[in-house]
This record gives sequence, C-alpha cells and structure tokens, in this order.
Amino acid sequence: MQPSNHDAFWMPFTANRQFRKTPRMLVAAKDMYYTADDGAQVLDGCAGLWCVNAGHARPKIVEAVQKTVAQLDFAPTFQMGHPLAFEAADRIAKLAPADLNRVFFCNSGSEAADTALKIAIAYHRVRGDAARTRLIGRERGYHGVGFGGISVGGISGNRKLYGTMLGGVDHLPHTFDLSRNAFSRGLPEHGVEYADALERIVALHDPSTIAAVMVEPMAGSTGALPPPVGYLKRLREICDKYGILLIFDEVITGFGRMGSVCFAAEKFGVTPDIITCAKGITNGTVPMGAAIVRDSIFDAFMHGPENGIELPHGYTYSAHPIACAASIATLDTYAEEGLFDRAEEIAPYFEDAAHALRGLPHVIDIRNVGLVAAVELEPRAGAPGTRGYEVFERAFRAGLLLRLTADTLAISPPLIINRAQVDEIFGKLASILRSVD
Ligand code: PLP
Repeated sequence: MQPSNHDAFWMPFTANRQFRKTPRMLVAAKDMYYTADDGAQVLDGCAGLWCVNAGHARPKIVEAVQKTVAQLDFAPTFQMGHPLAFEAADRIAKLAPADLNRVFFCNSGSEAADTALKIAIAYHRVRGDAARTRLIGRERGYHGVGFGGISVGGISGNRKLYGTMLGGVDHLPHTFDLSRNAFSRGLPEHGVEYADALERIVALHDPSTIAAVMVEPMAGSTGALPPPVGYLKRLREICDKYGILLIFDEVITGFGRMGSVCFAAEKFGVTPDIITCAKGITNGTVPMGAAIVRDSIFDAFMHGPENGIELPHGYTYSAHPIACAASIATLDTYAEEGLFDRAEEIAPYFEDAAHALRGLPHVIDIRNVGLVAAVELEPRAGAPGTRGYEVFERAFRAGLLLRLTADTLAISPPLIINRAQVDEIFGKLASILRSVD
C-alpha cells in the first residue's frame, strides 16, 4: 500500500520536513531484515528501535498474537483479571534478579518510568516518610517523554520546549569522558568517581528529602554510554547509606541486550529496587512496559482496609491480553533459542568488528558493551548532526538500518545476528565513512 500523501502523520522524534523530501519506508520484516518499499533488503542494525531482540516476525510470537486477538481481544485489569496477565508477570519476575518479584504493567518505557517514579515516592509516603519526594536523575539520561521521564531525564533538547518540569529534581553528572575513555572496550576504566557526585547532591538537599535515584545502567538514547567500572555499585552503596531507592531503567538494556542474562542489573552485579523495562519485553510486537519492584516495596503498600485500592495508578491497557501473550511467547523464544547466551557468545566478534572502524575518517570514539556499539563522529564545524545524518541516510540506501543520535551512530542488532551479518554491518559502515566529508 502506498499512502495517498505524507501530510497527516506528524512523525515522532523526526525531522518531518526533511523526511518528506526523501521518505524512508519499511513495508515488511523477517528475521534480520526489513524490506523497503522499493523491495530492497535492509539489514536491521538496531533491532527496530532497540526492541526486536529475537528478530522479526518470529513464528511463536506471531502465532500467540493471532490466537489471542481472536480469543480475548481485550479484558480490563481494574478489579478484573485474566490468566495471561498473571502468567506474564510471573515469567518476568522469574527473570528479574533477587526479590524483584512484583510486576506493574504499562504500555511503554515512558509509562514504566513514570510508574516507577510514582511508586518510589508513594512507597516512602506509605511508610510514613512523606518528606522523601525528591528525584535524582542524570545528565544525558533518557527515561521517555512523560513529564516525570523528561524531568528526571537529562537530555536538554527533550526538555526545553516544555516549560515546567517536575519540581524537586536534581541530576548526577553524565559519565561521558572522551579524554580518558575514548575507544574503550566494554566498561570504561575511568569514571567511578562520577557516582560520588551523589554524596554532594544528598548533602545539598538532605537525605531525608530524597526518594529515588534513577539511571539507565547503560545510557542508551544519548548515544550508548556503558557505565564506568564500579560506577553502578558505588551508586548502590550511596543509596543504601541514605535509604534512597535505586531505579534502573532497563528499557534498552533488558532482555539480553547486555549478553548472558536478562537484565543489566544481573550482568553488572548490582541489584536495584525497581527495574523499568519495555521494548524487548514483547520483542517490539505489541506495546508493553513494566515496573518490576522488590517484594518489600509491594508489601509496604499492602496495609489498610482490604477493600482499599493500594496504588491509585494504572492504564486501560495495563496487561493487555495481546501484549501478555506476545510477552510470554517472546520469553519462550529467548529461552528456547538461548538468545541471551548467543548475544554473549557473539559479543567479542561484534566488539572487534566495531573497533576495526578506528582510524577511519571522522571517528573520534568507539565504545561497546554486550550487543551494543556506538561510533562517535566528529561533528562538522557549525553543523552538528549533519555528518551523522548523512551516514545514517547513506547506510539506509545501502541496505543498513542504524540508530542515529546527533553524530553518534548506535548499532544494536537482534540477538540472532550471525558473523556474516556483523561483517555486513561494519563493512557497509566502513565504506560509507570513507565516502562522507
Ligand atoms: N527509557 C529508556 C532507557 C529508553 O531507552 C526509552 C526509549 O528508548 C524509554 C525509556 C521510553 O520508552 P518508550 O519510547 O517506549 O516510551
């Protein structure tokens, strides 16, 4: 189907006028490849939008969605239940570390972020600690686009148009440190001390006012910044010292992206109090997000009259049957195909291929962790973002989908990728880098 015109759809996070001049249209997808509207095969170098971890149109997931839409198209979860919701929650809880056993469903990463922030503040309040309302995020953090998420997030371009942010929010410094960590492989060596800024923020505001710290274990949308060695552990220690909840936003890092285990928390050996996730939870098939909380947080709410709603929060589509079915089938696919291990196995090959771009024109940094790599280009003087866009656009025309943030290109393919496809990604990227000025 060709659209009759391109006017009505106001595209998200897109340069709409630029797009309309040279539309990039995808019409089908299977396994590692998209098909563009001219029939070209496009290798998916970014798992759609960091979400299609098992590859596209996987049979079990397709079948589960088809079956469920015919059997239970919708069921409310306010004062009602359906079996798929409980099953999906149980499956996700089993994948989460330690005692993070309670799953609150929503429909996106943005909703998961706002859900987690609300739960954190409410948790302190129901325990009689109502002064703890302050939220601490991090510069360059991305937690979606709700007012909570953009307030705690630290990407100025996502905030400045929108006036008032949440009050009582402060930010840790970001950990991007090109002078010391350029071309690091895996977790960068330098920067654990960036976590110590939390001590200063706590001293400034007084710990009794702080509800939670929220960070992405690996900052994704800002251009893939793996955490410095020891950094997350240090944050955990400081949070513990002052009774502050630690929230990991694992919307990108969850579901095997870091390799070998489901969540970055486990991979990096640091257990937060709340994990937010989305994207890979359904392999991107159906919108879904979740906040996974410790038993002790859930338990804190389970007081008062039994007919009282403990958390006045939720979405019409929380635990939508089709999303739950997609999630269960997705988790089955991850498990049956051992995809988290597969990511771990191919990660060193992927790392070497990424770092082989070192020395090519404009490349000022390459960094990677798990099945994520970022190639940072020197911005053109006075025209930041234009070089990155040119590479992104040429890559698409050459049959490769990348993710672009200003002059940083992120590569985060489905976990089913093979070595030949890794070579295809970085081979194409190398020849494009040689051809742009
Ligand atoms: N949090 C993180 C870490 C993300 O990377 C994203 C999206 O990329 C979000 C939240 C927002 O997710 P959504 O776009 O599903 O609202």
